[in-house]
Amino acid sequence: MNLNSLEKEKIEATKIRIIKCCEIGEILGAKIVVFHPGYYTNGGKTEENKEQTYITIKDGINDMLRLINKKNWKIKIAPETMGKVNVFGSIYEISRLIKETGCSFCIDFAHILAREKKIEYQKIELLFPQKDWHVHFSGIIYGEKGEKSHRTTEKQEWRELLKNLPKDKEIRIINESPTMIDDSIEGLKILREIQ
Ligand SMILES: [Zn+2]
Repeated sequence: MNLNSLEKEKIEATKIRIIKCCEIGEILGAKIVVFHPGYYTNGGKTEENKEQTYITIKDGINDMLRLINKKNWKIKIAPETMGKVNVFGSIYEISRLIKETGCSFCIDFAHILAREKKIEYQKIELLFPQKDWHVHFSGIIYGEKGEKSHRTTEKQEWRELLKNLPKDKEIRIINESPTMIDDSIEGLKILREIQ
């Protein structure tokens, strides 16, 4: 998956894979297909590299949106905020994609923590004013370059997320830890406690 590959065939293959997911999702009644958009050219070393990556990924998303529209599908495509600093997908880039293409989005809070080393909830609310949020969450191990791996969520991390998420939105949280079922049950318990 890379909407910014130097090889045009790889970009096309990525779009075909996402569209295939949309086709199946549409039949299943799924609302959203989440994907990792791609890698920066040259590891995103310069602002120019990052801007060119943005434009190429935006073009790819627009191509897919045109096709989804032509087929009259209701399903939405959602690029995800990414956890590694050399991978496309900062909160600013994903927010800009929504504004400029009308695509949907997935906010992965573990990825944001790994990439930014902190989560600024108010800033995220300003960047994503939409009423409906699709959210990924888990514990995460990270270093200077961002995400290393997902890990089981600690109670305190659940509490912090659930307390800080906006209260006036429709939010779906998908847990992505290696122990996702137990983790989700834990999260639900904590949600009931603090409500
Ligand atoms: Zn995720």
